[in-house]
Amino acid sequence: MSLEQAMELFRRTGVMQEGHFKLTSGRHSDRYMQCARLFQYPAESAKVCTEIVEFFRDKNVDLVAGPAIGGIVMAYEAARILCTYKAGVRNIFAERENGVMTLRRGFQVEPGQRALVVEDVVTTGGSVKEVIELLHAQGVEVVGVGAVVDRSNGAVEFKAADSKIPFHAFAALNVESWEPDACPLCRQGLPIVKPGSRK
Ligand SMILES: [Zn+2]
Repeated sequence: MSLEQAMELFRRTGVMQEGHFKLTSGRHSDRYMQCARLFQYPAESAKVCTEIVEFFRDKNVDLVAGPAIGGIVMAYEAARILCTYKAGVRNIFAERENGVMTLRRGFQVEPGQRALVVEDVVTTGGSVKEVIELLHAQGVEVVGVGAVVDRSNGAVEFKAADSKIPFHAFAALNVESWEPDACPLCRQGLPIVKPGSRK
């Protein structure tokens, strides 16, 4: 799928919102990506996740792990697709307990297992890095990282010891943002929206 087709899919499913947004960081932007909206539509989600998973098809993945909340549905869908190539691929998710990324709910991993880590939107990759560390600490080899949107436009890197972990995103975007003082939309007097809240 080309970037244009990907953007069309994001507009159609409501993932990409255009306007004047105040981001969590406090910066302003003219676009906001809400990937949870993609997963409202199983058929579209399957299309996107298949494209991501195909990239890691030869990696002999044993399990898929995603950070809560953004990675939960995506990890399930990625594992479901991988199961069509190899029986028994598992899906787990990691979540924060007292601020520390943890495997709860009795999720177990074994040393030597091969994991694909997935997240819906990667900006700095912080949560993904925490999941990678958590898996490495238990002897799991992380063979790839997949995302729906790479907001860093290819700048983010994931490492295992001294090598780079292959990273593949469905769409790499450079979403511009500005400090409020320098925001061209503020200058135009456009009302600002905080994503997640109604206008
Ligand atoms: Zn602004």
